[in-house]
Amino acid sequence: MNRVFNFCAGPAALPTAVLERAGLELADWHGKGLSIMEMSHRSADFVAVAEKAEQDLRDLMAIPDNYKVLFMQGGASSQFAMIPLNLANGSGKVDQIVTGQWSKKALAEGRRFADVRVIANTEDNHFTSAPTQSELALNADADYVHYCPNETIGGVAFDYIPATGDVPLVADLSSAILSDTLDVSRFGMIYAGAQKNIGPAGLCVVIIRDDLLGKAQAATPTMFDYKVCADHGSMYNTPPTYSWYLAGLVFEWLKEQGGVAAIAAANHRKASHLYQFIDGHDFYANPVAINNRSIMNVPFTLADSRLDKLFLQQSEAAGLLNLAGHRSVGGMRASIYNAVSEVAVVALTDFMTDFARRHG
Ligand SMILES: *Cc1c(COP(=O)(O)O)cnc(C)c1O
Repeated sequence: MNRVFNFCAGPAALPTAVLERAGLELADWHGKGLSIMEMSHRSADFVAVAEKAEQDLRDLMAIPDNYKVLFMQGGASSQFAMIPLNLANGSGKVDQIVTGQWSKKALAEGRRFADVRVIANTEDNHFTSAPTQSELALNADADYVHYCPNETIGGVAFDYIPATGDVPLVADLSSAILSDTLDVSRFGMIYAGAQKNIGPAGLCVVIIRDDLLGKAQAATPTMFDYKVCADHGSMYNTPPTYSWYLAGLVFEWLKEQGGVAAIAAANHRKASHLYQFIDGHDFYANPVAINNRSIMNVPFTLADSRLDKLFLQQSEAAGLLNLAGHRSVGGMRASIYNAVSEVAVVALTDFMTDFARRHG
């Protein structure tokens, strides 16, 4: 089997052990003579798989009992609309923080369904930092505060959880969920598209405090109503069964690695190795404020952008894939999610050393 080092921002690398197991089980799941994909979502076998996946996620993240875990569809982007539809239900006013392309998209969609106030926006400094707590112009009458703790494109992360008093905090954790320890009780709601640290694209995991359910705007489509989803165990309609199963395999794998604390330690080692390397070489640069550097997405530029194409060609030839930065910002980006090993990150810096020596 040939496996490259894959630094894709999403859909991203999955653990090889998970893919091998899914391969073994593909046509004949646990000797039942059929694929998990071919089973009724109401069957005892699938329900057991689904419930175990949820329990493993609860264990991994220490999710308190007063939170529901929903397995939804439509990726994280659908949540940009579902959140105001479900949660902008008091004053109708919401606070949003903008620190990059994803929170900007969430803002555009939020404005369609709520009266949004932007309480901090770092676009003026090209999204290279996050605001401090004192820079947040919070409003006590907001129905919620929305932010993105880890901006996948800019590689910008908050180094604190905003304190919002009684106003529920909603976080787009798509590219950071399960990467580091997190106090779930600080949030009203967390959501994450699966294709970074959880599993296949399309699935979106929502973790929501149960007092926030049941107040959706009247025009909310049934399928977008968190309470309907929660009341039906995420099976109001046919859920994405295979993605749910695969997410469950990833959660099992994470537990085998020692859980979130252990994977977080590895993630911090990976990130500091890469940032130290970049900071130590004039040929490479990362524009993000030191405190706000993401441990998952590491953008970097070469001293001469005319070498970008060559860098990408040669890195790919060396088995290091998907290092191009997002089309909106250019340059390079290494996404070093949970399934990207320390060996992969060292292989990357070895290649970067060699490339700088030849072209610097
Ligand atoms: C990838 C990503 C999204 C979009 O996810 P989709 O599943 O493609 O909708 C949203 N927010 C963040 C932070 C992301 O990294």
